[in-house]
Amino acid sequence: MHNIQPNLNKTYLKATSAKGVYIFDENGKAYLDGSSGAVTCSLGHSHEKLLPFIKKQLDKLQFVYRSQFASEEAEQLATRLYELSPDRSLTHSFFVNSGTEAIETAMKIAIQYWQEKDKPEKTHFITRKKSYHGITMGALSLSGHALRRQRFEDMLEKYPALSADLENDSLEDQVAEFEKAIDTIGASKIAAFVAEPMVGAAGTALAPVNEYYACFKAVCDKHEILFIADEVMTGLGRTGTWFGMEHWGTQADIVAVGKSLGAGYAPIAATLMTDKVLAPIKKGSGLIMSGHTYSGHPLSCATALRVLDIVEEDDLLDNVNRKGTYIKSALYDLQKKYPVIQIVRGKGLMMGFELDRTIKGIQAKLIERCYQNGLLIYPAVGGKEGTDENGVLISPPFTINKSEADELLGKLEQSLKECS
Ligand code: PLP
Repeated sequence: MHNIQPNLNKTYLKATSAKGVYIFDENGKAYLDGSSGAVTCSLGHSHEKLLPFIKKQLDKLQFVYRSQFASEEAEQLATRLYELSPDRSLTHSFFVNSGTEAIETAMKIAIQYWQEKDKPEKTHFITRKKSYHGITMGALSLSGHALRRQRFEDMLEKYPALSADLENDSLEDQVAEFEKAIDTIGASKIAAFVAEPMVGAAGTALAPVNEYYACFKAVCDKHEILFIADEVMTGLGRTGTWFGMEHWGTQADIVAVGKSLGAGYAPIAATLMTDKVLAPIKKGSGLIMSGHTYSGHPLSCATALRVLDIVEEDDLLDNVNRKGTYIKSALYDLQKKYPVIQIVRGKGLMMGFELDRTIKGIQAKLIERCYQNGLLIYPAVGGKEGTDENGVLISPPFTINKSEADELLGKLEQSLKECS
């Protein structure tokens, strides 16, 4: 074997085809994609409206380099994202290829924004302990995900990470912790506060209380600190609204999106920003010092634009909300029957539950039982410190129908039974 899969000592089954919510392995066995891969394939697989479009785009234009040409495809996608953003606040898009790159770019844009405003000392970030923002050194420096940081700890920046309990501590205490962190470093040194609206892999669909983001944004504004929302997982429909932050009625200055943008059909992500953020850079150096060879790839941009069109044409946000409500209520029923499930959370089709952390290996066991029973679910961490490997995310494609949702729940219950 020459290809490196995550676990070097495991033989992985090969997937040979996929259709709708199902992936088929080399033996013809079907797996219901209950996690959309890594919370990614929002339209499911081999979508019949998308494939012919991608084939047509391939015949037209695949690649141009961004410093040599603009493309209609990238321009149209940026316009669409602007139109979809709350109050049309996110006026500009910088396209990259992964969520991690979108976060790295967000960090650089925040730093550059302050440089162009003659405040070059504003280079620090405040983050949250329960967070995952990506796998490169910069994005990992922002992330609290202990398991993914561990080996590189000495090389990572030590940004202050808020550790308040988003669900149980009073909002007053949480704001006080934030203010204290700002005081400790000094607002004059802080570029931005970074948060996932709902914490995914590092928190099992953990969400703060209703007033949280409005309060935190007000503190940011008071101290001249930008607010970066990491919507790589929550963005573009996953939680039942185009942007996760809409649930909190708050707008960020910079927003990273990925996953559901390309929906698994193209490796594309984006850093979106308000006019306020772009203006001083445009007026100053006139150049955002970031970018990749494949940034703004026309084939990826055209694919993403069609993905967003299909979500709208097929009224999929409505399905996300309906099936999300249906599956979440069934998860609560399962919790009553199987006390191993301790907490159920979620919005739209980004749902999660934490398992009894005192049962050693329970998460791995459940995921394996599900896999054997033909159901894919996604691991997440939970517990007080966000270090317990006891969470799973349930995040099927936006297209899932009622009988597929029932099949998902049936396979999950069967697997829970086998773990008891
Ligand atoms: N930010 C969040 C909230 C994520 O969930 C992820 C990936 O899971 C990332 C960033 C990194 O995205 P990618 O894996 O596409 O680099």
